[in-house]
Amino acid sequence: MSEAASKTENFTHKPRVAYFSMEIAMESDIPTYSGGLGVLAGDTLRAAADIGVPMVAVTLVSRAGYFRQAIDPQGRQVELADDWDPARYAKRLQATVAMELEDRQVWVGGWLYVLNSWVGDGVPILLLDTDLPVNDPRDREITRYLYGGDEAYRIKQEVVLGVGGVAMLQALGFKLMGYHMNEGHSAFLTLALLRRYAHPSEGLRPGESPYDLPRVRELCTFTTHTPVEAGHDKFDYDLVRRIYGDMLDPGMVKLLAGEDKLNMTRLALNLSEYVNGVAKRHAETSRQIFPGYAVHAVTNGVHASTWTSTPFSRVYDQHVPGWCHEPELLTRADRIPDDVLWAAHQESKQALIDRVRELTGVSLNADQPILGFARRMTAYKRADLMFSDLERLKDIARKFPIQIVMAGKAHPNDTAGKQLIETLHARIRELAGEIPMAFVPGYNMALALLMVSGSDLWLNTPLRPLEASGTSGMKAAFNGVPQFSVLDGWWVEGCLEGVTGWAVGDDSPTANGHDAMALYDKLEQVILPLWYGDRPAWTAVMKGAISRNAAYFNSHRMMRRYATEAYLR
Ligand SMILES: *Cc1c(COP(=O)(O)O)cnc(C)c1O
Repeated sequence: MSEAASKTENFTHKPRVAYFSMEIAMESDIPTYSGGLGVLAGDTLRAAADIGVPMVAVTLVSRAGYFRQAIDPQGRQVELADDWDPARYAKRLQATVAMELEDRQVWVGGWLYVLNSWVGDGVPILLLDTDLPVNDPRDREITRYLYGGDEAYRIKQEVVLGVGGVAMLQALGFKLMGYHMNEGHSAFLTLALLRRYAHPSEGLRPGESPYDLPRVRELCTFTTHTPVEAGHDKFDYDLVRRIYGDMLDPGMVKLLAGEDKLNMTRLALNLSEYVNGVAKRHAETSRQIFPGYAVHAVTNGVHASTWTSTPFSRVYDQHVPGWCHEPELLTRADRIPDDVLWAAHQESKQALIDRVRELTGVSLNADQPILGFARRMTAYKRADLMFSDLERLKDIARKFPIQIVMAGKAHPNDTAGKQLIETLHARIRELAGEIPMAFVPGYNMALALLMVSGSDLWLNTPLRPLEASGTSGMKAAFNGVPQFSVLDGWWVEGCLEGVTGWAVGDDSPTANGHDAMALYDKLEQVILPLWYGDRPAWTAVMKGAISRNAAYFNSHRMMRRYATEAYLR
């Protein structure tokens, strides 16, 4: 990092929007992210840096990362430490702030990481860190593990993120025009703002509240990412009080965050003027879970240059100049000659084949299609759906040879997710000799790019309506890889049957149970015959994915909408 960009003073001269997220994927190798939420946060900030939207981000340093995934000989996930050294990538912040947790004083320091762009000064990211010698050893651990620990640990992390983050921004002299909560983890920031803008008690009429709710609401934006009630953080009030005391008048907090439990999503909803879900379908689902709130829809997007393979970037540079800054130019993808497009695909595919061989020993054939599937391993994503009927799958593969590449981490406490990984390894053994299949360990951004660009078909088979958006299929579109997915999340908007990809099953509420059959039928009757039998028609679908979907489902479009509709409202 250049000296000029290494100080927060370079970023405090103009008002900014503060973006709070428990995880942010800054670079593939910095393990401060677990999956989709963190990658989306990174893509949001990369787009802000490109467009010049003045932002500053706040997250935790997570020195021990999420975890590094290995697979043992039985096909089980092994979780290894993934420590990283912030000093290698970031500069120490010149301020520390104090707060009281469990009646101890806890100092919060941190690091400045600058997310650079070809244009502008980049976006500063503050990585909060309690690992300071002045702190009690117990408190030095608070910012260490991403999504680790018990409820008390999570509360402490979220207090440090929300309350510590607001204090740190002020200590460093940032001028702020708004606060954006990326998911509910940072919602304690609203309480810090209510306290900051409270009216002095002497001016109040009897019974009048000192808290200026409209003022705080005016400042806040909230993006929810979870389509099920159970997925939202809810904390025990007694536990919160034991850790952090009474943040405000307890009656007021219950009014804002729920009577029985402190619900972080309710808190964020009640104190945000602009609230949105991450796809149209998800906004509808959220309006049902939280009736009475105006939940807008800002469908997610991915960052163009980050998610385009080198061979495809070269092709776009030549045939669609300016695409990095204006991804909507990709509507002109039809200009790309078929053979140029196919050559770029084969080059990306070879890179995946080489990496799969290196990491798993599995050999794949560049002249047969690769079906790719990678995402967090958790029950609702149904990574095992395509193996529901192994005989049927083998039968299809005898007519149209296929190969399968999969990847994904399961949260260490997600027993069902870990079981899925074991099951997939059993399938690899059962399919041996008939369908080459690899599970690549250590899913991260670099592997994601190889997979979304090197596969021929990108699969997604979640249980409706649990996929809020999904973004890996958007990354595939940037590399001309059509998606074959259940109609949930962004695919409800992105699927034009046979033009940008294909739907697994239909959109009816009862479709979940029939998805496996629908998947086999369409693979056998539509998709594989097209891949093997009609290359011009196949490349037309590749171009459809680029011109209709990459041109739209990108983070530049998403950022412009947040800027105009949420930040500048
Ligand atoms: C894009 C990405 C995800 C999210 O993918 P989904 O399709 O939304 O599940 C998760 N992990 C990594 C490493 C990614 O790059």
